[in-house]
Amino acid sequence: MCVCFLEGRGPSLPKIFDCVMDAAQHRTCQNAPHGHLEIVFRDVRVPVSNVILGEGRGFEIAQGRLGPGRIHHCMRMIGVAERSLELMIQRSIERVAFGKRLAEKGMVQEQIALSRIEIEQARLLVLKAAHIIDSLGNKACTKTAKIAVPRMVCNVIDRAIQVHGGKGVCQDTPLALFYAHARTLRIADGPDEVHLEAVAKLELKEPLKAKM
Ligand SMILES: Cc1cc2nc3c(=O)[nH]c(=O)nc-3n(C[C@H](O)[C@H](O)[C@H](O)COP(=O)(O)OP(=O)(O)OC[C@H]3O[C@@H](n4cnc5c(N)ncnc54)[C@H](O)[C@@H]3O)c2cc1C
Repeated sequence: MCVCFLEGRGPSLPKIFDCVMDAAQHRTCQNAPHGHLEIVFRDVRVPVSNVILGEGRGFEIAQGRLGPGRIHHCMRMIGVAERSLELMIQRSIERVAFGKRLAEKGMVQEQIALSRIEIEQARLLVLKAAHIIDSLGNKACTKTAKIAVPRMVCNVIDRAIQVHGGKGVCQDTPLALFYAHARTLRIADGPDEVHLEAVAKLELKEPLKAKM
């Protein structure tokens, strides 16, 4: 891992991206505010003075950001879930179908209630994870929140989309974009399966030891 100064200029982010996009083979995908780049470096030489931490230690730096990064994603996702529930409620009050507001229909009320319950559960899990990070440091385990929160927010957004009907799957509301983004978090920072495996191993460790 290193600091790159392109054409002798400082590492201002848009400038780097402009230069890289001109200079390298790349593909992008939209993700606010700048998208994600896929960059191929060929025959790149890095001045020794630009190496951060030490040769071969880039992965260590990348790992170091994971704990705080994961909990940051979780916190933002709680906000996205709150906004989705707010939109779901608004829509259920405004929309009259078959002579009744959606808000008066038991099945829609259930979607609202389940969403509130799941958001509160996830919020408490994130607060616990934040407390563990504060008391034990960045390397402390945030896996349970990392698994639970994106699943919760995907559920809540999905319900909000359903309550919006066709309006939920177009760009008239931010819900479709919310979903696309929230869904990536079951893959980004390690797919669910890897974290589930780690949680299961921890649960199994002592009982297995006792059986040996
Ligand atoms: C929006 C976004 C942002 C990202 N940001 C970053 C970043 O900032 N830094 C960074 O380093 N990386 C980042 N990533 C990369 C991310 O960590 C990887 O995409 C992720 O670890 C999955 O790796 P992969 O895409 O190679 O999929 P693969 O490793 O091919 O996995 C594909 C699927 O295989 C299954 N699978 C994989 N491993 C296991 C296993 N051990 N057990 C059971 N099933 C398994 C899962 O279903 C998984 O979803 C980002 C990805 C996305 C989508």
